[in-house]
Amino acid sequence: MKKALICGAGGFIAGHLAKRLKREGYWVRGVDQKYPEFSPAAADDFQVLDLRDGKSCCAALTAPGGGTFEEVYQLAADMGGMGFIQSAECEIMYNSSQINAHMTRCSALAGVKRYFFSSSACVYRDMRKDEAELSEEQAYPALPDNEYGWEKLYAERMAMAYGRRYGMAVRLARFQNCYGPEGTWNGGREKAPAALCRKIAEAEDGGSIEVWGDGTAMRAFTYVDDMVDGIVALMHSSLENGVNIGSREYVSVDELAKLIAEIAGKKVRLQHVTGPVGVRARNFRVDRMESIGWKSRISLREGIARTYPWIRNQVDANRHRNLIAPAA
Ligand code: NAD
Repeated sequence: MKKALICGAGGFIAGHLAKRLKREGYWVRGVDQKYPEFSPAAADDFQVLDLRDGKSCCAALTAPGGGTFEEVYQLAADMGGMGFIQSAECEIMYNSSQINAHMTRCSALAGVKRYFFSSSACVYRDMRKDEAELSEEQAYPALPDNEYGWEKLYAERMAMAYGRRYGMAVRLARFQNCYGPEGTWNGGREKAPAALCRKIAEAEDGGSIEVWGDGTAMRAFTYVDDMVDGIVALMHSSLENGVNIGSREYVSVDELAKLIAEIAGKKVRLQHVTGPVGVRARNFRVDRMESIGWKSRISLREGIARTYPWIRNQVDANRHRNLIAPAA
């Protein structure tokens, strides 16, 4: 039985990945600084550790019986949507760089065979809406729009350097914006699809919601099941260096909000307000992933139709909790 270590397994994408690897028959250890919030950990073993600490990384990497993990999936990061990325740049750079420095080095020294790192589309520069999709090499000359992107780029390079020296097969995925059930939906770290689903779930039919910026920024979004398929396919492929994982279905932020409102069955007015928006457009090529047979299969409409009810249920449950909570 193959053994996999999944870092960040208390979070969204890694939580889904743990379920997937379990279904494939792996023995899985999850590690995170917190337990999963929305469903029990799918892992065989779950350790709560702060991965900014090298000793914790080494402890997480000690497989049962003292052996080594064949595969390590590093998805732990201090991370959130654009509001968080723009307000917590010091925390992101400090915390995530420590996690990546220690986990990369400890994995290489422990003799891990395959190491997956979750990088981001944020490694690319800002783009015009009508620009052609960027290929992976066009991350250089580097000009990420935010410090989160710079940290990811540095972590990619560190993983490649350790991979070269220690013969560890490193796989680097640059994720597009990912969404789906069990993702952060409130509290300030949520990303645009979850934030808009929440606002629409909270709004009255005929009411209005606030949308940051003028609503014209262009984005594409990947449903979490497609992302997890991509992670597994890339990990077992021979593709080296950064590889984009994402869909080619581009929409403006306003189009996304209108689609969610339609799926929610509500008429909602969009009120544009000043807020952190990020880049004007983000389009990247996915030919390298498609060359290994992967393709984004779940349309935005279908993905939102699966995600919105989950977020609406969270909103309802939260309202209910607040109603029955004793007054302070
Ligand atoms: P998430 O926040 O749900 O998961 C990250 C997990 O890392 C969290 O559970 C968090 O507790 C854990 N973590 C943070 N600091 C830690 C520490 N010091 N020790 C142990 N665990 C720690 O985020 P996600 O959306 O699942 O993202 C997973 C990975 O994918 C991240 O590396 C993220 O940067 C990357 N990514 C995500 C997206 C997206 O749209 N969700 C896009 C691009 C890249």
